[in-house]
Amino acid sequence: MPSKLTKAALALSVALGLSVSSNVAHADEHKVLKVGCEAAFAPFTYIDDKGELIGFDLDLIRAMGKVMGYDEVKITALPFDGLIPAILTDNIDLIISGFTISPERANKVDFSDPYYMCGLTFLVNKSNEDKLKKISDLDGKDICLQIGTTGALYAQKALKNANLKQFNSPPDTYLELQNGGCVAAINDRPVNDFFLKNYKGKDIVSKTITTENSEYYGIAVNKGNDELLGKINKALLEVKKSGEFKNISMKWFGRDISEDFK
Ligand code: GLN
Repeated sequence: MPSKLTKAALALSVALGLSVSSNVAHADEHKVLKVGCEAAFAPFTYIDDKGELIGFDLDLIRAMGKVMGYDEVKITALPFDGLIPAILTDNIDLIISGFTISPERANKVDFSDPYYMCGLTFLVNKSNEDKLKKISDLDGKDICLQIGTTGALYAQKALKNANLKQFNSPPDTYLELQNGGCVAAINDRPVNDFFLKNYKGKDIVSKTITTENSEYYGIAVNKGNDELLGKINKALLEVKKSGEFKNISMKWFGRDISEDFK
């Protein structure tokens, strides 16, 4: 008869053996989609009070990951200007991060079909509202931007004599604006709007720079990764067909954003 101790050891090794072998089997099949985003871009990609990565883009890619047959969608938060380098070194499979499809970026990565349309706005203090109405009014002034973004690129071209102060994320630009370190913060319209909607004060207002159909967000993959890109475009169509895209859109925007463009 085995002693109580050997019985326990046996039971333990069986349990361990089982769990080890099931882990191995699991590791073989477990398909992970590695997603990179910048996590201070509400309402698309950001961290909530509980430390969870949430947002429209993340709901969308989680839904698409399931449709594409992945067991897990692993989301890594990176600095905005670290996203393309992370793709190029295969640390992530794709970027979804309110990421505008642009000719400059298309030299380095391939883009999916667009899923969101937007433009740029700038925020100013209410006290400056009458003086700073349009983009040209910002020339020669201190302006806050997010580094590496389309807004930053736009400002470099449009504001030759401005002092462009570059920050890592939109929230940093808002803080600087509130502290008087700049007179305007340039960002994507929905991001500035989301900030204003949740902002308790009444001292900041928004001004339009470019029309709403001047930028389109897309999902970026490594150049030449046609297999993944094909799956992404197919999954995008499927979540639109199934109504899931609409549900996610209603949750974040209160309307179906796929109706904005065809
Ligand atoms: N849409 C802008 C861009 O692609 C900003 C994106 C972001 O900061 N996440 O440059």
